This record gives sequence, structure tokens and C-alpha cells, in this order.
Amino acid sequence: MSDIKNKILVLICDGMGDRLTNGYTPLEKAYKPNLDFLASQGVLGIMDPIAPGIKPGSDTSHLAILGYDPYKYYTGRGPFEAIGIGMEVKGGDIAFRCNFATSTPELIIKDRRAGRISEGTSLLTETINNLEIDNIKIMFKESVEHRAALVLRGEGLSPFISDTDPHLEDSSVLEAKPLDNSLESLKTANIINKFTRLSYQLLSKHPVNKVRQQKGENPANIILVRGAGLVPYLPSFEEKYHLQGAFIAEVGLIKGIARLLSMHAPDFTFATGSYDTDMKQMILTSLNLLEKYPIVFVNIKTCDLPSHDRNFEMKVRAIERIDEALAPLKDFKGTLAITADHSSPISVGDHSADPVPLLILGDVRKDKVNSFSERDAAQGGLNRIKGVDLMPIILDLAGYSEKFGA
Ligand SMILES: [Zn+2]
Repeated sequence: MSDIKNKILVLICDGMGDRLTNGYTPLEKAYKPNLDFLASQGVLGIMDPIAPGIKPGSDTSHLAILGYDPYKYYTGRGPFEAIGIGMEVKGGDIAFRCNFATSTPELIIKDRRAGRISEGTSLLTETINNLEIDNIKIMFKESVEHRAALVLRGEGLSPFISDTDPHLEDSSVLEAKPLDNSLESLKTANIINKFTRLSYQLLSKHPVNKVRQQKGENPANIILVRGAGLVPYLPSFEEKYHLQGAFIAEVGLIKGIARLLSMHAPDFTFATGSYDTDMKQMILTSLNLLEKYPIVFVNIKTCDLPSHDRNFEMKVRAIERIDEALAPLKDFKGTLAITADHSSPISVGDHSADPVPLLILGDVRKDKVNSFSERDAAQGGLNRIKGVDLMPIILDLAGYSEKFGA
């Protein structure tokens, strides 16, 4: 087993970066003695998860932080939606975002969200999952409410086909059409059109929908697809870095990305309530995993909800709870990076392109910054980097890089 000095821990605090509210960011307002102590021992900077001015999704930013250029590997929301709800996708699959919708027998859409159906979609799913059309395997999985994802697997498929979702009510279901002249696109469009009609046949007579109609609710009797995307062929984390990596994440999307890279990403649950995570347990688990793996990533989602709710006080409290959980890291002897996947300002209530703070500890050129916040980090010795720069920097600090040249 390698020395603790060669161990790397990366903590990604989801949406932690912010702008000013009444003159301060939540990080500046929070009482965070542990983060500030760690800052005093390390080197800081700010990081554009993708690039300056580019508003990152959590998927694209995690790809970048893991060192996978999202402009090369991100192929649209379909594949990542499927990954996020736990479908086992493979490079070369074609994935779609889907809706359960309400259709007439003439395939006119009456309700694109099937009355925002909240129950019974797993039973409906059973009848349309694991189908085969023209030798192509069809996998379907329900998500929350009317949402779902569809994955096609087999030879000769293409992501270049149009949506069947008309995006308007009282409109006909659209025919999927090839968007280029390839046989693959024509074949994929045909399969989707067959699947669409089949979904109506199978779902319209399903007992769940009979009950819905008796109750005066809109039946979920057709599947609309949109956002076709090719599941990318990604080199595994181990192929790329010759290191086995582990990822602790509770969010399906992040866990799914780690699994797509063949990282060790078990179904950890640290939830102690609907929005609470036992972060102390999360940190202890990450330290345990470092006994076995040279590099461990952790996604801490605590700041996400207050950011979307635009609740400044709650975000401050979330940061303080993260800080409490970091106490055991004060004598961590490996390379430690603490950052965020994107900013989520209270003033915006959503992701923004503002760079995030970054702190690295280990055998680093310590700078003069003694506090962990967006504006303090901007004074640090790392200056301003991009998300894809993080892996090379920490791998080098931990002693894994090779000389470029003689
Ligand atoms: Zn995020």
C-alpha cells in the first residue's frame, strides 16, 4: 500500500460558491474555524469549473473536475438523465429523456405530463421495459412524477433523430425523423416511432390507467421522447490515471458519472432526514476508503437546496455543518482539495458561471490566505484555474506525474 503522503482526497461542495448578499457571501458570513485553519495551511485560488462565463451543470462540472473535458465527452442530457436515475448505460447506447403523457387514440396529446402522475409509474414501466424492436434492446425507467428515460442498445444506431414530444398540448405526437442521411438515423427513428405506438397500445389498457380514468385523472398512456444522445465512450478513470478511484455521492447523477468511469461508487446513504446528510460519517467513510484507494472524491450536496431556495441563512448554516464535519481533516497527511462544482448564488437561485473557491493542502507552496471564501481564495497562490486543471495539479503534488521532456 502506498504512503499516506500519496493519498488524495477531493471534497466537492455542491453549489457552495456565491455572490454578495448585503455585502457578504454565505462563506464569508459562516463560522468555519476548520475551513479557515485548513486555508491557513494550504494554497488557494479560484476555479472556473468549465471556463470563464460558462454556467456549468453538475454533470459537466464533475466531468471537468475528474479531468474529462466536457466539450469532448458531454453528449447531451438524455444520457446523463438515464445515468442519473440509475440505468446501467454503456458507451454506444442511445438515451432519451421521456415523459409519460396523455394521448387520444389518434395520437393527439391532451396532457404532456399525464396529470403530473405521482403514483403507479413503476407498474406502467414494467410493461414497456425490456422490449425488443428490430433486434434493438429497449430499456425504460421511470424517474420522478411524469419523467423517465429510455435507452436503446444494439448495432447501427444513431443519436441524430428528432423528438416525438410536440412540446404543445392538442398537437399530434411527432414522428421521429432522421436528422442526417445515414441509415443508422433512419433505423433509430423507425424504432422510436414503433416504440411510441407500442407504448400507447400497452399503456392505454393498463390497470393503473383504468383506475386513473375512473378517478377522473388523465391516463399516462403514451411515452414522448426528446433529447436523443449517444452515451459517450469514456476511458475509465483507471485507464486514464493508472489509479483506482472511489467516489462518495448520494446524488444519482454524480454516482452515475463515477460508475460510467468504472470508479468505485457504492450506494452510500448518509441522509438523516429529507434534506440532511450525516457529513461527519461521510468524511469518516472517505478516510476509510483511502486505506484501499489512492484517490477518493466526495460530493457534499448540503449547500444545494438553500441555494435553490435562495435562503441565505440556511446556506450559512449548511456551510457551518460542513465545517464541523471537516475537523478530522486537520491532521490529514495526504493531498486534500476542497472546492465546489459550481456557484449557486442566493441572488440567482440557480447555477451561475462565477468561479468557485479552491483550497489545496499537502506539499504545497502555502500562500498568505488564512480564510476560505470566494474573495479570500481569489488572493491565493493558485490564482485562477479551470476545472480540468485540477487533476493534473493534485496528481503532481501527490507524486504521480511524469516529467514532460528530459
Ligand atoms: Zn452541482
